[in-house]
Amino acid sequence: MPEPSRPDEVLVRVAGAGICATDLHAIEGLMEPAGLVPPVVLGHENAGWVEATGELVQTVSPGDAVILYAPYSCGLCVPCRRGHDMHCERHQFTGLTVDGGFADYVLVSERSIVKLPDGVEPAEVAPHADAGITAYHAVKKVAHLLGPGSTAVVIGVGGVGHVGLQLLRELGSGTVLAVDTDERRLRLATELGCDEAIGGRDVADAVREHTNGRGADLVLDFVGADQTHADGMAMLARQGTYSMVGFGGMLSVPSVAMVSQEQSAVANLVGSWTDLWDVLQLHARGRLTLKTETYPLDDVNDVLSMLREGEITGRAVLVPDGRERP
Ligand SMILES: [Zn+2]
Ligand SMILES: [Zn+2]
Repeated sequence: MPEPSRPDEVLVRVAGAGICATDLHAIEGLMEPAGLVPPVVLGHENAGWVEATGELVQTVSPGDAVILYAPYSCGLCVPCRRGHDMHCERHQFTGLTVDGGFADYVLVSERSIVKLPDGVEPAEVAPHADAGITAYHAVKKVAHLLGPGSTAVVIGVGGVGHVGLQLLRELGSGTVLAVDTDERRLRLATELGCDEAIGGRDVADAVREHTNGRGADLVLDFVGADQTHADGMAMLARQGTYSMVGFGGMLSVPSVAMVSQEQSAVANLVGSWTDLWDVLQLHARGRLTLKTETYPLDDVNDVLSMLREGEITGRAVLVPDGRERP
């Protein structure tokens, strides 16, 4: 159990912690340039119940059901005051640069807390802390491109992508196509209401076929490997936008192609505290389905291997032993 050291801290009893591909990147050493110094307890998609509060804490009390916004933000710098908490000048990140929620308890600042709407159970929404807000932040940014007659493509219907697909419907009114290499994830995309689920190798050609040769106005890449970067740019329409959420590959594209077609490439990092609040309101109204599989916390290494092998459909959530509402 971590020891509070500041009067604005809140100790939270973990009810559930989602597992993210970024955890794999952390284990591979890819997150050290982003400030991770091992050893650190991973787990940045955390929800649970308040166990104890520092003397300055005003907005929550022990027993409250909460979800935890992973970026630490000071509230004082210019990016924080603009609402871009994830770009805080004193940035920390629960579960990457400070200890996270693959544990019985996690310690956060009061600014990281979002109270859950009535009737929402923490373990069932934990992945919204990252998967949900990352998808929301990315889709909201391009919502003006999702008008009637537009075509958006989701590449990778995994933990983040399956939320992104629903948000494209929720915040837009165009056609939504889903691309994945796995039959189970393509079925999930269909269940969640995409207009066409596309598998196979020649996905860029398939998207062009579905758009009378025009290509996609928006491609949201939730994978971020060399192949999906190349496919995403190859399926883009004139004036299209290629938006990256997943990462790890190398984006390489001839500038003449982008300039002559006035295409854009943009990137997305998590989301803001208010994005998390928004996502929970959508969830509480039944507008978002979060597909989760729960596993005991003790199985963390097995579940990480399953994620690495592509054996998780939706999001895996780790639950500490015997965890239920206090
Ligand atoms: Zn994540
Ligand atoms: Zn700040």
